[in-house]
Amino acid sequence: MVLTGIRLAATLKVKCFVIPSNFWLICMNDYLPYGRHHLSDDDIQAVVDTLRSGTLTQGPKILEFEQHVAAYVGARYAVAVSSGTTALHLCCVVADIGSSDLVVTSPITFVASANCAAYVGAKATFADIDPGTLNLSPDALRDVLSAQRQAYRHAAVIPVHFAGKACDMDRIDAIAKAFDAIVIEDACHAFGSTYANGKRVGCCDKSLMTVFSFHPVKAIAAGEGGMITTNDEKIYRRLLRLRSHGIHKGDDPLLRKDLAFDGDQPNPWYYEMQELGYNFRITDIQCALALSQFRKLDRFLERRAELAQKYRLALAGHHHIRVAQPNGPGESANHLFPIRVDFDAIGMTRRALMQHLKENHVGSQVHYLPVYLHPYYAAQGFSKADYPHAEGYYAQALSIPLYFDLTDAQQEHVIKTLGQFA
Ligand SMILES: *Cc1c(COP(=O)(O)O)cnc(C)c1O
Repeated sequence: MVLTGIRLAATLKVKCFVIPSNFWLICMNDYLPYGRHHLSDDDIQAVVDTLRSGTLTQGPKILEFEQHVAAYVGARYAVAVSSGTTALHLCCVVADIGSSDLVVTSPITFVASANCAAYVGAKATFADIDPGTLNLSPDALRDVLSAQRQAYRHAAVIPVHFAGKACDMDRIDAIAKAFDAIVIEDACHAFGSTYANGKRVGCCDKSLMTVFSFHPVKAIAAGEGGMITTNDEKIYRRLLRLRSHGIHKGDDPLLRKDLAFDGDQPNPWYYEMQELGYNFRITDIQCALALSQFRKLDRFLERRAELAQKYRLALAGHHHIRVAQPNGPGESANHLFPIRVDFDAIGMTRRALMQHLKENHVGSQVHYLPVYLHPYYAAQGFSKADYPHAEGYYAQALSIPLYFDLTDAQQEHVIKTLGQFA
């Protein structure tokens, strides 16, 4: 019915049409991407207010956003930075990960999870995924650490809560401890997710730091933006310095007392750079947007959960298309909705299916090309044979539209379009 309507509309070259039986309105311009942000007037007003406030960066919105996020996830501290990528980079710096060190992450992630190791001169490597959850497999992690750990000085593990599904942090933490490795959680997909024990991802009970992203495709949008949460005060203070050139902050003890003071009076012009830092700051403009979005997070998560549940029910009867991750334990933020398609069984390549979906206004994407296949990493000699589960998932992976503004009618259309291949 929907398809017929679309074809009819295409023939008649009309922009919008109504399906009389249920009055669903589907606009021909409505290409359904796999994910997108939601903006409303209050978000725009929040940005305008900050533009008018006179403070564009290094102002009050940053601390306000940090405090909201720390309270929300249940961590003592939060430091906002310019992106999820710079957040991961800073985590490696502050954890003293450098050359002669090892970083282990999942191959099924965005490249940034591994690139942070390369930024600090460390060796990035991968441990295979658990085919059930698509997260870093604790068993594979143990194997990689037992084979490689002793050749390196420090080691870090970066588990990724793929598509919002929280990793088994109890096991990952126990294995990391056994190999004297620190843990940094890449929670860029998991703002609002909970672990099996009900606590929010980002509380850092089982990690030194957790990283979030506020790129528009993620849970809330800042334009660009990232956050690090931690419970360690020393790390928190050092992160504040490192995000802004390594210049001392607040009540950090000053090192050059001879320059800093005139007798016992502080020199008003004086500041000092204590170690090599970066300009990884986020702006007040971005934090104003993020704060406004944050107020809607519960609604965003609720709608995503509703849509995910509907997909789960609709796809349950399919033979050749399966939902890729289990529902629980823990609540997923449902950043993505990954499915597994048996392309051999439907007699269609992934390219052809994506093309067919696109012709029907349904966007899709592959999350992800295993990171070790990217030329930069492939040149380092990784072998597919070491990652059978990442390969198995990659061969079938497809993410279908899931975002706050996806209407019931639009989701029905996605389900019907996919249903032809059941
Ligand atoms: C988006 C993302 C990042 C990087 O975040 P940016 O804010 O885009 O720099 C890192 N890791 C994962 C898993 C991501 O999805």
